[in-house]
Amino acid sequence: MLYFSHPSSLEHDPRQGVPGHPEQPERLRAIEAALAERDWLGWERREAPAASEEQLLLVHPREHVEAIRDLCRSGGGPIDIDTFAGERSYEAALHAAGGACAMARALVGGEAEAGFCALRPPGHHAEPARAMGFCLFDSVAVAAALAIAELGLERVFILDWDVHHGNGTAEIFRQRDDVLFASIHQRGIFPGTGAREDTGSGPGVGYTINLPVPAGSEEDLWVSLLEEEVLPAAGEFEPQLVLISAGFDAHRDDPLAECRLDASSFGRMATLTKAAARRWGAPVGAVLEGGYNLTALAESVVATMADLGDEGLSEASSAARSGSG
Ligand SMILES: [Zn+2]
Repeated sequence: MLYFSHPSSLEHDPRQGVPGHPEQPERLRAIEAALAERDWLGWERREAPAASEEQLLLVHPREHVEAIRDLCRSGGGPIDIDTFAGERSYEAALHAAGGACAMARALVGGEAEAGFCALRPPGHHAEPARAMGFCLFDSVAVAAALAIAELGLERVFILDWDVHHGNGTAEIFRQRDDVLFASIHQRGIFPGTGAREDTGSGPGVGYTINLPVPAGSEEDLWVSLLEEEVLPAAGEFEPQLVLISAGFDAHRDDPLAECRLDASSFGRMATLTKAAARRWGAPVGAVLEGGYNLTALAESVVATMADLGDEGLSEASSAARSGSG
């Protein structure tokens, strides 16, 4: 199993522009302290390379890439009310996208069965030409596009279990039938998109699955949507690579949303996804998105990685183990 990180992730700090901003470097420090205590769960740690400009251009127009670069080079500043780029943010965002690409390359190359990118800023709200929602470049989308354009895959499945709709990824692949995008998210919160009726556009109709859930939704609903709707549809799609936009803000302690998952709920979703992916013969790579209660985030990442990395774990034993959580 492969874990990707980079020191530049700690140098992007939206609190420079927005005091008290929840998307802060301490998120990664909390994750890494919890993993270090557990000897990194036996995962191999790799440094995330910077994405090349060509990689970013797979999903973003040149004007967007240059606008972020130039803003950071000139010292940084606010992009919208909750999105900020500082002097070091361009480099951090390059490594966040580059780590996702390196992970996809390693997984497709057969180096490992699962991977996790603990990098920031997050990416799934970044639209082709617009940074928003704490996100500058859409890392998971860049990796999916790279897997098709450079690694020769024909079908990539992106599962977005962040509590917010992954509007950026949805827009990037809205018209494509080679990337299946499925998002489970809380209805009525940021960014407001992701209605169930929106199933994609043009040739991409049927390749977008939006599953909004009400505030207060618990593990049973999330897991049943995954088991009964998302994974069966993904199975028909026969993906060659599974990427998870892994946000952990559906945790009951998260300050930004009102769902009620536990750390073990994410482990359960990871186990189900990994078991399905194994049936499809596809590796699974997770990319960190949201998650803003530091303790809940760290515990949820540990649970996810433990279950993604557990070679011998059956679905039944994991369900039994997490059932009381
Ligand atoms: Zn989120």
